[in-house]
Amino acid sequence: MELTLNNGVTMPALGLGVFQSPPEQTTVAVEAALATGYRHIDTAAAYGNERQVGEGIHNSGLDRAEVFIETKVWVSDYGYDQTLHAWDKAAGKLGVDYLDLFILHQPAPDRFEKTIAAYKALETLLGDGRVRAIGVSNFMPHHLKQLLESTDVIPAVNQVELHPYFTQPDVQAADAGHGILTQAWSPIGGITFYPGWGEDRKNVMADATIGAIGQKHSKTPAQVMLRWHLQQGRSAIPKSTNPARIAENFDVFDFELSADELAGLDALHTGRRSGPDPDEAREERFAMVIPEA
Ligand code: NAP
Repeated sequence: MELTLNNGVTMPALGLGVFQSPPEQTTVAVEAALATGYRHIDTAAAYGNERQVGEGIHNSGLDRAEVFIETKVWVSDYGYDQTLHAWDKAAGKLGVDYLDLFILHQPAPDRFEKTIAAYKALETLLGDGRVRAIGVSNFMPHHLKQLLESTDVIPAVNQVELHPYFTQPDVQAADAGHGILTQAWSPIGGITFYPGWGEDRKNVMADATIGAIGQKHSKTPAQVMLRWHLQQGRSAIPKSTNPARIAENFDVFDFELSADELAGLDALHTGRRSGPDPDEAREERFAMVIPEA
């Protein structure tokens, strides 16, 4: 299933995410995904595995043009010249001469002018043909407003935390209003259950409503959530390093959720994010240095 971005570029709706995929497992995970039929990989400078993503794509034997490669600039590389150089780092590690989608990983609320300068560098890269589309991640409507006031190219994509317990209706509406595609991170709720992110979270994978819908369709909770994203027009990038789960997450094109089921999933929204608040400056994390290629 392909989605058309606001500049006419097409992108496979479902991609493989690799956040927290250890480098030594990433190459094999990417190879498994491409063998399964995925044609879209979402990585980031900050994940420390762009090189292994590139290796996996190379080992697959597919042509470069057959795989949609999305990666992200980390905050420590914000600023016009720094972000142009961030492209050199990313493309060098991935072993490619263009990126399909290059996005800012976060708004940096403590240095928003550098965020804007970074985005202007993305516009330059787009003009030069070194990227096919540009976008943002974790931008709330007020960040988008500020960005649009000072830049020329409307982001193609806004990648945000989005699963049934946190659907960000305001962000989805703002994105849609500007023709920006909403892309779900933690689309099957990883942030609601992976270890080390706070103990008072409720695991969306164990939700009874989702389980019951899955039983009706003989599908797993992850498959139900992914189908919900796709039917509502979002891109989703589930992460797994396990070949069986990588395949499971791609086996979502042979069933259809009813309008009632979609509404039932929408109704699970709690209004409470599990991941970091994009308005919080996280100095230590922001300072992480991205190595040269
Ligand atoms: P996710 O994809 O919602 O969930 C991943 C977790 O679910 C992993 O623990 C994975 O473990 C497990 N899993 C995968 N498939 C499963 C299945 N079918 N059944 C049961 N468990 C399953 O969470 P995420 O990694 O946070 O988000 C996905 C991607 O979004 C990331 O990899 C990254 O590319 C992107 N992301 C972006 C941001 C941002 O700030 N822009 C933040 C977070 C994530 P196994 O690997 O063991 O299968």
